[in-house]
Amino acid sequence: MINLETPQKFGFLVNQAHQVATEIFRPNSRKYDRAEHSYPKELDMLAAVIDGMNESGALGGAGAGTVGGNASGERSAKADGNRNGTNMASLLGLIELCWGDVGLMLTMPRQGLGQAAIAAVANEEQLARFGGKWAAMAITEPEAGSDSAAIRTTARYDEDTDEWVLDGEKIFVTSGDRAELIVVWASLDRSKGRPAIKSFVVERENPGLKLDRLEHKLGIRASDTANFVLRDCRVPKENLLGSPEIDSKKGFSGVMQTFDNTRPMVAGMAIGVARACLEATREQLAQAGIEIDYDAPPHAQSAAASEFIAMESDWEAARLLTMEAAWMADNRKPNSLQASMAKAKAGRVGTDVALRCVALCGAVGYGEGELLEKWARDAKILDLFEGTQQIQLLIVARQLLGKTSAELK
Ligand SMILES: Cc1cc2nc3c(=O)[nH]c(=O)nc-3n(C[C@H](O)[C@H](O)[C@H](O)COP(=O)(O)OP(=O)(O)OC[C@H]3O[C@@H](n4cnc5c(N)ncnc54)[C@H](O)[C@@H]3O)c2cc1C
Repeated sequence: MINLETPQKFGFLVNQAHQVATEIFRPNSRKYDRAEHSYPKELDMLAAVIDGMNESGALGGAGAGTVGGNASGERSAKADGNRNGTNMASLLGLIELCWGDVGLMLTMPRQGLGQAAIAAVANEEQLARFGGKWAAMAITEPEAGSDSAAIRTTARYDEDTDEWVLDGEKIFVTSGDRAELIVVWASLDRSKGRPAIKSFVVERENPGLKLDRLEHKLGIRASDTANFVLRDCRVPKENLLGSPEIDSKKGFSGVMQTFDNTRPMVAGMAIGVARACLEATREQLAQAGIEIDYDAPPHAQSAAASEFIAMESDWEAARLLTMEAAWMADNRKPNSLQASMAKAKAGRVGTDVALRCVALCGAVGYGEGELLEKWARDAKILDLFEGTQQIQLLIVARQLLGKTSAELK
């Protein structure tokens, strides 16, 4: 029988994440929304907490924003049985943290979506070298957003020095300024298309990696978003993640495994912020004397109450899809379809719920006295990065219809 309760062993993790969200994130939310680009120093103390949790195994070896094991769960699932592993642990932690603040969660030390890329394709030596470090992920370029196969950044092997030499431009890199490592996608041979795209770990201090500018944004202002130019950026041979072979049979699968891991996590972020909106709205409705009756049909209660119930059920559907996608990753089940379904559903629910809550709460929802208006701004990015709403629907359609990316664009 399906058990939809939170796995008991993650109770400690969920409580800790909720405490961080309540005691550190929420009190600093507005401050760093206003002070864009200033580093939230209150988060420094979290580095030690995260290290402790990782060492004790409380995070299952993966902190929030970090996922362990690849999409087929090779490092996170037992050979048999039903397992809730690092993906589920990360997801549950993220939901709590984003209930607190999405922007602050994205700029937590020791985290970063780059760790998902490392977990998905790194070998054991690389995992040992790069694990636990704050790693950003740099895929997007001025001419390559949704179509990540169109990237122009190149990687050339220098036989004299045994180094990879990266040249190109990367934009919209979350935590790009603050992370210790940047995982950069680059092509070994642009004439060979997708299979030639590999990921490389670049130290943030590498002199070939020049920060061009930081973006000013609608939401998640606590999180820095950096643009870089890579010129003669040299990294050791061993910093290419996975195999340097260009295997046309494997296509894009190596780097794409990253998304199977990260999309359920981004969906979880949307679940977290939407829950915050629903809770705040429920309080406002209660203060206004509006009762929510789950046993009454929509026509037998106020419009606000029935809208609230409809939002909650939509939220629950998104949550369950997201849990399924993370559970599949933990249990060695290919989850590309479910990861995209979860991201599409939760991304849309996150923005819809947040904006509808702003509307339901009227002046309180729109004003800066409460955080609802900020959450509505923060939620939008979760329907954009790691693949937009439209791209997730395209992936779902391809999978259901059995079409390739060339057949259905
Ligand atoms: C705050 C922020 C943080 C980010 N962080 C990172 C990061 O850490 N690392 C990173 O690599 N990138 C990051 N990104 C980039 C993000 O992933 C891209 O913005 C996103 O993939 C969309 O790419 P684009 O902006 O170039 O839009 P485009 O690809 O130009 O798309 C524009 C619009 O067209 C739609 N569209 C495109 N193609 C199709 C199609 N075939 N069918 C239907 N509709 C289509 C899109 O859905 C979108 O609505 C970040 C972006 C932002 C804003």
